[in-house]
Amino acid sequence: MAHISVVAPVYREEGNVAELVRRLRAALNSITDDFEIILVEDGGGDRSWDIISEESEKDKRVKGLKLSRNFGQHYAISAGLERTDGDWVVVIDGDLQDRPEVIPDLYAKAQEGYDVVFVERSDRPESRSYMMLQRIFYRGLSWLAGTEYDPRHGNFSIISRSVVNNFRELRENLRFYGGIVWWLGYRRASISARHGERFAGRSVYTFGKRLKLATDIIIAHSDRPLHLSVGLGLVMTVLSFLYGSYIIIRAILGDVSIEGWASLMVSVYFVGGVILFVLGITGIYIGKLYNEMKKRPLYVVAESIGFEKSVQTEIGQDALPRTANL
Ligand code: UDP
Ligand code: MG
Repeated sequence: MAHISVVAPVYREEGNVAELVRRLRAALNSITDDFEIILVEDGGGDRSWDIISEESEKDKRVKGLKLSRNFGQHYAISAGLERTDGDWVVVIDGDLQDRPEVIPDLYAKAQEGYDVVFVERSDRPESRSYMMLQRIFYRGLSWLAGTEYDPRHGNFSIISRSVVNNFRELRENLRFYGGIVWWLGYRRASISARHGERFAGRSVYTFGKRLKLATDIIIAHSDRPLHLSVGLGLVMTVLSFLYGSYIIIRAILGDVSIEGWASLMVSVYFVGGVILFVLGITGIYIGKLYNEMKKRPLYVVAESIGFEKSVQTEIGQDALPRTANL
């Protein structure tokens, strides 16, 4: 059993893996030599896996998991977390934007008596307008999802064994590492550290992919959009009742004109649009419900290297016995 386990998702990071391992090893060595580094290759199809294998051959403390296809970083993190056995587990991005040199500070903070310590990213290299958009987005997200996401928090964090064990018990399909850890509670703290530039390659996130992630986060953590649509329906009902009464009174008073075609058309389209929108929201939730009901494994591990039992094909959900809660 290692003292510290590190989990890093790796997706098309062939230019980063060797450097990542080198810097992780240096940073961890300053704490203990009893560590393991688990690199989870998320089906990127580049040379990342070969490099992970090479690193693992050289140093047995480096282990690799290869997912059968691209599942997404939060699934990759889950896959890695489930195979850790360290007393403490560090989650870090594989592109060196989270600087491994910060790990000793994270560890030191955790030793002050915290189970969860996140890194607050300061000095982000992204542009000002990007940061502003991001702030607005996170505000809205926090409100919609009913959580307190701090946009300065990424995945870079250290969590205790007890948190990891509980994390493994949450089997929902829609997952978001920070969200689940937030939900779990525990004694939390954060430290501030500079956010680095990517060492090599570029971010695979497009606007569309980020938007999808954002929708997933909202749906996964909140039913507020459903309540909002009920509220919207209610407001529309009250308004149309008032307007309806007004029309009826005018008709009774004999003050009916054939005017009003424009307002009629506009309201038909408007109400139609609102109905479709609200139905869409409901539909999204039903879709997610359906996905959860299928109880599919969260990810599929195609290959692994460096673990005691090397497996060819392994299914995420059943791969490990369910551990009892502490
Ligand atoms: N990543 C992953 N699967 C994906 C996309 C990204 O495992 O489908 C990993 C990627 O290798 C990196 C981390 O997630 O280690 C963060 O990705 P990226 O740097 O592209 O995101 P950004 O830093 O721009 O938010
Ligand atoms: Mg990055």
